[in-house]
Amino acid sequence: MRFDKLRLNGFKSFVDPTDLVIRDGLTGVVGPNGCGKSNLLEALRWVMGENRPTAMRGEGMEDVIFAGTTRRGARGHAEVSLTIDNRNRLAPAALNDADQIEIARRITRDAGSAYKINGKEVRARDVQMLFADASTGAHSPALVRQGQISELINARPKNRRRILEEAAGISGLYQRRHEAELKLNGAETNLARVDDTLEQLA
Ligand code: ATP
Repeated sequence: MRFDKLRLNGFKSFVDPTDLVIRDGLTGVVGPNGCGKSNLLEALRWVMGENRPTAMRGEGMEDVIFAGTTRRGARGHAEVSLTIDNRNRLAPAALNDADQIEIARRITRDAGSAYKINGKEVRARDVQMLFADASTGAHSPALVRQGQISELINARPKNRRRILEEAAGISGLYQRRHEAELKLNGAETNLARVDDTLEQLA
């Protein structure tokens, strides 16, 4: 999956709309300490559906919204969009008529997050599955944050296995299995209720 462009607006230190155009070849981001390099990577993770504030170095999800400085007031919302090259038709069938796909996530204070794919509102799960099926996403081992290498070395075997599963692109299948199990449990509970009612009527 090739990323073409990342657009940030009100996300952390990127208060003004900012485009990061990712061209063919290697892209390097350089700058002094604290200029926002890690924030860019976090924006990428966030738009792909990251829901753990700790992974965003915050206490709550709203901490990703520009918090204001002495010269500029805080913002009420943050938005990140990611444009993906879909000429090889890697995206799910429902999106496969588009050469480019734009995934956008917006968070508004006290109103939570909303996601869009090519302008159409979707669920967080749809975005997460899109990336999981393409062996990438917010938890992709291709995104290495600071301190993660030492975490990996010290990780328990079960956690290390999860990383390998992400890399193999099967984490989406686990999610689907989990959802199928929940539905099955719900159906079994309903059946038990029907049996009880039938017994009462008999
Ligand atoms: P280093 O090279 O030291 O790792 P970096 O270039 O990766 O630094 P980041 O960690 O991405 O820098 O950015 C940190 C900056 O982002 C800090 O100046 C911090 O104040 C700012 N920042 C983080 N969250 C917000 C927010 N919600 N609102 C405004 N600024 C924020």
